[in-house]
Amino acid sequence: MPNPSEPFFSAVRARLGPDAVDTAPETLARYGANMLPCGALPPAGVVFPGSTEDVQAIVRMANEHGVPLWPTSTGENRGLGLKSPVQPGQVVVDLGRRMNRIVEIDETLAYAVVEPGVTYAQLHEELGRRGHKLMLDTTSGPPDGGILGNTLDKGAGYTPYFDHFGMSCGFEVVLPTGEVLRTSDGALPGSKTQYLSKYGYGPFLDGLFIQSNLGIVTRLGVWLMPRPPVSRAFFFTFPEDEDLAEIVELVRPLKLNNLVPTLIKVTSDVYAFGTEEAYPFERTGGRTPLPLELRKELREKHGLGAWLVSGAFYGPSEEAVQPLIERVKAHFLRSGKARYISHAEGEQSRVLKIHLDTFSGQPTRDELGLLQWRPGSGATWFLPASPMVGRIANEQQALSRRILAEHGFEFVIEYVCGPRMARALHILLYNRQDSEERERAGRCFRALLQAYAEAGFMVARAPLDMQQEAMAKLQGVPEVLSRIKHALDPEHILAPGKYGVS
Ligand SMILES: Cc1cc2nc3c(=O)[nH]c(=O)nc-3n(C[C@H](O)[C@H](O)[C@H](O)COP(=O)(O)OP(=O)(O)OC[C@H]3O[C@@H](n4cnc5c(N)ncnc54)[C@H](O)[C@@H]3O)c2cc1C
Repeated sequence: MPNPSEPFFSAVRARLGPDAVDTAPETLARYGANMLPCGALPPAGVVFPGSTEDVQAIVRMANEHGVPLWPTSTGENRGLGLKSPVQPGQVVVDLGRRMNRIVEIDETLAYAVVEPGVTYAQLHEELGRRGHKLMLDTTSGPPDGGILGNTLDKGAGYTPYFDHFGMSCGFEVVLPTGEVLRTSDGALPGSKTQYLSKYGYGPFLDGLFIQSNLGIVTRLGVWLMPRPPVSRAFFFTFPEDEDLAEIVELVRPLKLNNLVPTLIKVTSDVYAFGTEEAYPFERTGGRTPLPLELRKELREKHGLGAWLVSGAFYGPSEEAVQPLIERVKAHFLRSGKARYISHAEGEQSRVLKIHLDTFSGQPTRDELGLLQWRPGSGATWFLPASPMVGRIANEQQALSRRILAEHGFEFVIEYVCGPRMARALHILLYNRQDSEERERAGRCFRALLQAYAEAGFMVARAPLDMQQEAMAKLQGVPEVLSRIKHALDPEHILAPGKYGVS
């Protein structure tokens, strides 16, 4: 059957050259693949712009031919979508392949300007080449993930620059009708403060372009932190699942008064040792989820407890940082349950080193080991908000454990704690080669989403196959977004269906 998007592809080839389009079956399979319960979502084809002008031309041709587009930058959105479009048959615009330059690094004002394909590993390496005067905030996910795509999906890291959208400034965006918009002070022709003055003049437009289908972002300013001479992490383990309530109560004041400058991670046992272990089916006779005795055994093997707490201090020297470590030690050890693990011990453990790396802006592949916990590498992220109140954290824990256990999955979670709220990063790991298990993982995710929404807790990001359902939990916002969508994208050609907005 002829590809209905063929006239569009011919127009793109004529304008951008024959290499700018790929419709080979293996390419469609690769771009349609993801780790989600919904299975593959193959696109109609892939186009490769090399410049902002190319993106404008592609968008205009898509309007003429009525072809829906799906932008991707590095497409490493593991557990949330990879490169695949939200609906099969959309045309993927792969910005990362050819638009992957670090446009500028300003070492005085500490920022970089990046194109969509610039990865965490690439910028880290370039900063290293320049003597590591500046530090990049990185995720604990794939180093080949992109700074721009992660920012647009409300991604985050762990250092004081953890809020990637908060630390971005100055978007260059191709609107769905093909015009270019520069936000913040970039709207002033000849602006000298485009990457410095985030909120600009008038209503703040940048937020319209994150988790959205209102524009294709072609350039972004990213603020960088001066690299501190010394970065020292601390770790504490706690023995029991129920200790979460006490941990949250202990963490909150450290963040409210900003004593600890990083986010504080509270990592569950399976999340921690799952980076190094595979599910021991032979020990359980094939049964799931993992029984408590085996959890305890694996915790002991890796020197962990039910929970691992981690954070870091920065300073000019070891001597300057040590009193802060002592203060935090006294604070946690008061509980009588915590066990302290030093930075030096952390360096000896692969499970702990992930945290040393992320607190010091070093991209790491080690956490990707979690994707091997179950065979078949299925993964989907459930990311609700959790107030920093111990009682509520334990209520949420009981809810998640019950729903996950009913569906045969482990509670694999990391609470990433700020002063008032933690992001409860659940990873639902399952065998995506097994159709029954895949279907069960989808049901489990829906049950979690429903139960948390009923209890008053919303997710911050959603995997492609759950975006519609998550948006349907909200009132007022979907209607307003739909009106804005129609005004900016009258032909509805840009990523219809993304985050539940068509
Ligand atoms: C073990 C593990 C740990 C992880 N840890 C973290 C973590 O610490 N923090 C975190 O945030 N994530 C984490 N992730 C999730 C994910 O892998 C990363 O967020 C990853 O960086 C996102 O993919 P990307 O950068 O390649 O973006 P992309 O896949 O390129 O894009 C992400 C989204 O933005 C949209 N988009 C991309 N480019 C454009 C554009 N130019 N214009 C408009 N829209 C665009 C895409 O349509 C997509 O919806 C983790 C994943 C795993 C498996």
